[in-house]
Amino acid sequence: MSSYDVVIVGGGPSGAAAAYDLAEAGFRVMILDKKEFPRFKPCAGGVTTKALHLFRYSIAPVIRSTTNTMVVGHGTGKQKTLSTNAPICALTVRTELDQFCLEKTLQQQNVTFELIPGIKSIHQEKDTVTLITKDDRSFECRYLLGADGAHSQVRKLTGEFTPDRTAVALEGIIPYDRLKNIPEFTFDFGVVHKGYGWLFPKHDHVNVGLYTRRPDEVKISKVQLNQYVQTRLGVDTVDHVCGFPIGTGGEHYQPTSKRVFLVGDAAGMSEALLGEGIHNAIKSGQAAAGALITAKRSNSSALEAYKEAIYPVKHDALNCRKVARIFYKVLPVSYAFLSHYPVGTMAMNGFAAGLTLTECKHHMTSFKIDPKIVEPSSLTEYHH
Ligand SMILES: Cc1cc2nc3c(=O)[nH]c(=O)nc-3n(C[C@H](O)[C@H](O)[C@H](O)COP(=O)(O)OP(=O)(O)OC[C@H]3O[C@@H](n4cnc5c(N)ncnc54)[C@H](O)[C@@H]3O)c2cc1C
Repeated sequence: MSSYDVVIVGGGPSGAAAAYDLAEAGFRVMILDKKEFPRFKPCAGGVTTKALHLFRYSIAPVIRSTTNTMVVGHGTGKQKTLSTNAPICALTVRTELDQFCLEKTLQQQNVTFELIPGIKSIHQEKDTVTLITKDDRSFECRYLLGADGAHSQVRKLTGEFTPDRTAVALEGIIPYDRLKNIPEFTFDFGVVHKGYGWLFPKHDHVNVGLYTRRPDEVKISKVQLNQYVQTRLGVDTVDHVCGFPIGTGGEHYQPTSKRVFLVGDAAGMSEALLGEGIHNAIKSGQAAAGALITAKRSNSSALEAYKEAIYPVKHDALNCRKVARIFYKVLPVSYAFLSHYPVGTMAMNGFAAGLTLTECKHHMTSFKIDPKIVEPSSLTEYHH
């Protein structure tokens, strides 16, 4: 049996972020994934400025483009272009981003990666956890992190958390050579029930998709996606269309196990307003790593340390859920606010400054966000 300080199931943004920090602190880490990297992950690949700020290294080599502007629409009707003086989002291709981050992580000492066919069982003892894979290999560790995404097996096998709801998104790509005009970075709110359609231009193709925070109330389909791109881009076909759940509801995640912690989509950490998950995946991965490092150094409870470290992520997820509920309920009013000064401008400046929604709300209610807090220099290193 192989033995490690920490075994992490899942080598996506949350797992890689946790592994990177743990390895740097001298922990022996094993990352297990059921897919060999580079692997496809359904995602629009939008890495917001606040997410960019979390990486321990520059991800410039895998950034296709950055954007200072955001077109916001209401249905497929009216649109408004909002802009600011620094990037609000970097556009990446997830296959490339995840491969890059995993490579950076595996360059650290003490981290290894193994391909597994899936997990058969998880056994928690007083001082250790043993994970048995579907092909009967055993991995023993002091702590196990479930970073295995929205369908998390670690979550299901341990019963650590049952999310009350997941969001869903459907995405595909259109090569530039099929388009007459290249669209700007766009969110068309209300194109689907309690959600939006997006267009993310990425140097040689546009990633297009539909998001709903309430898949229990509405099904989003390939037909709807085709209709959306036909209206906005004048084309009939979308390549590689793929749908996947987005793990939300993490504001209700109460860790109880002393040795198994969930991070990222496994813990429901994506926010419900836009379905952005990379930021909170990294942040929760780093929070778990920080908790284990603190527990080791001070010989204290990792569970208590993780509860504390994950709180800000949960708090922001809760705020996003509250805003999402109102935003989509009164969409015409929300859109009117967002597309007009000063709300749109303040939101854009907040995004460019790398603020979370909670921080943006705080600044907005005191009317503090002004262009001066945006520091373009902080992002120039990512733009190539
Ligand atoms: C269509 C779509 C578009 C999106 N667009 C964006 C966007 O533009 N920006 C953004 O911030 N967020 C976006 N998201 C959300 C984002 O993709 C997720 O929140 C993010 O990937 C979560 O990261 P993670 O590390 O928690 O999990 P994942 O990225 O899902 O990684 C989980 C890893 O675990 C592995 N795994 C799963 N099960 C097992 C198992 N049983 N055994 C071993 N390994 C396993 C998987 O192979 C995978 O490598 C989008 C989501 C979807 C579905």
